[in-house]
Amino acid sequence: MNLMIRCAHCRRFFHPDPRVKNQRFCGSAACQRARKTPWQRQKMATDPDYKENQRVCRKEWQKRHPHYWRSYRSRSPEYFRRNRLLQRVRDRTRSIKGLAKMDASRPFSLVKPGAYYLIPHLATMDALAQKVLVIPAP
Ligand SMILES: [Zn+2]
Repeated sequence: MNLMIRCAHCRRFFHPDPRVKNQRFCGSAACQRARKTPWQRQKMATDPDYKENQRVCRKEWQKRHPHYWRSYRSRSPEYFRRNRLLQRVRDRTRSIKGLAKMDASRPFSLVKPGAYYLIPHLATMDALAQKVLVIPAP
C-alpha cells in the first residue's frame, strides 16, 4: 500500500495499517495516547462494565506493585505537594456541596479571607480561560 495520510495529531504523513479501518493517527506513542485518552474517558463515562474492569485491573496492579506510589511520592516531591493541595480542594468542594444541600436558601461566601495557594488547573491550560484553584494555606 503506497497511500499515505496525514496524522490527526502530529500532522505528519504515514502509511496507514491496511488492517485498521478509518485509521486517523500514526503509530507514535504520543499520537496513540492522543487517540486513546479521549476514547477511554468516553468509555469510562458510558460503559460501567469497562469502568469496573479498569478498577479491578488497577487494584490487581497495585497488589503487584505495593510500593509504587510511596516511592513515586518520594521521587517526585512536587507532585506529592501539588496532589496534597488538590486533595484539600476536593475535600473542601465536598464539604461546600454538603453545606449547600443543608441550606440552599442561605447565601454563603465560598472564599474566606486568609492566605491561599494559587495553582493553575492543568486541564484548562489555554490562554483565554485560566482556571485557578484556591486552597487555604495550612
Ligand atoms: Zn502522529
